[in-house]
Amino acid sequence: MSEASAGSRPCSIGVLTSGGDAPGMNAAVRAAIRAASFHGVNSFAVHEGLKGLVYGGDLIKQADPADTGGILRRGGTVIGTARCKEFRTRDGRRAAARNMVERGIDALVAIGGDGTLTGCDVFRGEWPELLAELVDSGEISAEAAAAHPSLRLVGVVGSIDNDMYGTDMTIGADTALHRIVEAIDALRSTASSHQRTFVVEVMGRHCGYLALMASLATAANWVFLPEQPPAENWAAEMCRDIKAGRDIGRRQSIVVVAEGAADLDGNPITSQTINDLLETELGEDARITILGHVQRGGSPSAFDRYLGTLMGAAAVEQLINEEPGTSAQLIGLRENRVVASPLMECVERTRAVAERIKERDFEGAMRLRGGSFHNSYRILRTIQQAAPKTNTATGRRHRVAIIHGGGPAPGMNSAARAFVRLTLDHGATPLAVRRGFRGLRRGDIQEMRWMDVSGWVSDGGAELGTNRYVPTDADMPLIAEQLAAHRVDALLVAGGWSAYKAAYALHTHRTKFKDLDIPIVCMPMTIANNVPGTELSIGSDTALNSIIGDLDKIQQSAVATRRVFVVEVMGHDCGYLALMSGLSSGAERIYMPETGIRLDDLTADIRTMETNFRSGKRLGMVVRGEGADPVYTTEFLTALFEKEGGNLFDARAAVLGHVQEGGDPSPFDRIHATTLTAHCLKYLSEKLESGSRASAMLGMQSGHLQFTDLTSYPILVEKDVERPVEQRWMQHIRLAEIMCS
Ligand code: ADP
Repeated sequence: MSEASAGSRPCSIGVLTSGGDAPGMNAAVRAAIRAASFHGVNSFAVHEGLKGLVYGGDLIKQADPADTGGILRRGGTVIGTARCKEFRTRDGRRAAARNMVERGIDALVAIGGDGTLTGCDVFRGEWPELLAELVDSGEISAEAAAAHPSLRLVGVVGSIDNDMYGTDMTIGADTALHRIVEAIDALRSTASSHQRTFVVEVMGRHCGYLALMASLATAANWVFLPEQPPAENWAAEMCRDIKAGRDIGRRQSIVVVAEGAADLDGNPITSQTINDLLETELGEDARITILGHVQRGGSPSAFDRYLGTLMGAAAVEQLINEEPGTSAQLIGLRENRVVASPLMECVERTRAVAERIKERDFEGAMRLRGGSFHNSYRILRTIQQAAPKTNTATGRRHRVAIIHGGGPAPGMNSAARAFVRLTLDHGATPLAVRRGFRGLRRGDIQEMRWMDVSGWVSDGGAELGTNRYVPTDADMPLIAEQLAAHRVDALLVAGGWSAYKAAYALHTHRTKFKDLDIPIVCMPMTIANNVPGTELSIGSDTALNSIIGDLDKIQQSAVATRRVFVVEVMGHDCGYLALMSGLSSGAERIYMPETGIRLDDLTADIRTMETNFRSGKRLGMVVRGEGADPVYTTEFLTALFEKEGGNLFDARAAVLGHVQEGGDPSPFDRIHATTLTAHCLKYLSEKLESGSRASAMLGMQSGHLQFTDLTSYPILVEKDVERPVEQRWMQHIRLAEIMCS
């Protein structure tokens, strides 16, 4: 975005949160206030939502970036939200306009749902008339009105439902998914002990996003969505499926129902209806859990902190750079990029989904939700079956193997589970290689059955085993022999840096050993997010959540002291975890391998820290990627801060270590492990059917899943360091600088 001339800038920006609260709103407020300050524009925090605008007084406070410290980790919104009847009236909006002009506010960042954004757009449309009325009644001067001829408005969507057109994700949805998935994981263990069925009701009156994604992440056995009513005979079908699950040995069943679920005739399908059915038809010991407001609560996830930060800053830059008189814009994240789209068009398209559902045009509703929603639904329906569909194909069944490599990445088990079930459903034979490429050399390969992977979706670690072993030239004949002995037709390599290296090594030896000449597909699974062909790897979201959980605790522990923490995070030669965790936890400084550490930087950082502590700061946090610099180690930095801090502050090191690789996978990692596996298998089966031997790396690029030819591996990675040449997330360094300034 180009910098606008100072003359066309807004005078002051008001930042408010309104409507239903959503975790991550604080990140957006903090980012908007800090970005305004960075660009030299005054800003106000409007407390209690639109009510604050109408009532003015102390509810509209001059914003100070320093006051936004420590709010990233807090749930809800620290500046409050409220429903406001008065704002629906013209008198109320006139009062709001007066309060704003009195303070020179002529631009708004409105963070809320479609109600808030609609109300604000009505207000924006009326602004010139409201000001004329205020001049006529003598409440403001003609000069004051002339200084603010138009109201600039940018909307940021805070909504746990993820139901807004114009953005792939809304602030709060990922955290809500965390809460739901934690709850269902917990229910599963008690359900299993008692052989029970739990019917879990989640939020979503018009949008089944939470219900669908939670089902995918927890392996729920049945799901009801508003956009996709079940077939007419759903009751019998559901009972048959639950019973089939019991017959094959499932100790528990989970049914997820969105609060707006209904049948084809529009009759609500409630948790009670389902519960009664299960009890009367199957004699199940069923229980209902309505998750309710728990879904809104708690500390925001790493993704919501990042999303809120990205959107809050982008909203302010939009206000500063847009031409006066531009229609209101909505800031969204589409295809992994921040975009601004006409706000009211987004609101109208959002409401169209609810209209389609009301008119029972379910196909239309699903179409409006987009391809990935539909695709996720299809995958869910396949893998939640009690058994694969009967295969009628004749001829030799293809044999496809999965292998891990690299460090453990949360989500590996979710991938292995999806691999086994989708392969079987497709009529092929799934094989699992145990203990990575070392195991492959020894022939540690076994056929897998449907129930072998039961319960794997939520487990951290890697049941099949993984290690960093990369086969040598001498290993190749042994590996070729094993692939031939087990008649492996294709290979899915799900892992990190060494897995990719190993896959490429096999691929380059295919001309020498015909048994290595099989289609291979690499799937990015590493917490470091350092493999080529993708912007994002599975496992890194879990690691980030684990890191920010620890950073939150470190921040809390330092309340009573004046201290600088130097926190070391993993990532080898790649600074992704350092940058993203620093951004999501409000670190003052982030040291990364890509940018290195210079003595001048350290001197400047110590001076900044001193200034901040002198003006009342109590905690400083510095995040250092483990490979940031071979000389300026974590120990060195800590000693330096300790020495230079003198009486102002002391310094401590915290090396987070292997906890970052562990833990149950986050909802995002479980879902992506599952959907990416489906894509990889489609690729392999297409190659097998067409007789092609092509091999590829699957990646998320610009929000799309894309395959890159495996032969291009060497040109996509840096020489001598373990990271890809292109790392698009590096663009967020600028955002981190704005937030730390
Ligand atoms: P959300 O923003 O989460 O959708 P609501 O629909 O409750 O929440 O809207 C929040 C507030 O926005 C309302 O309390 C009201 O003050 C304002 N609002 C909503 N719709 C309008 C409208 N059509 N005109 C004026 N104000 C509105």
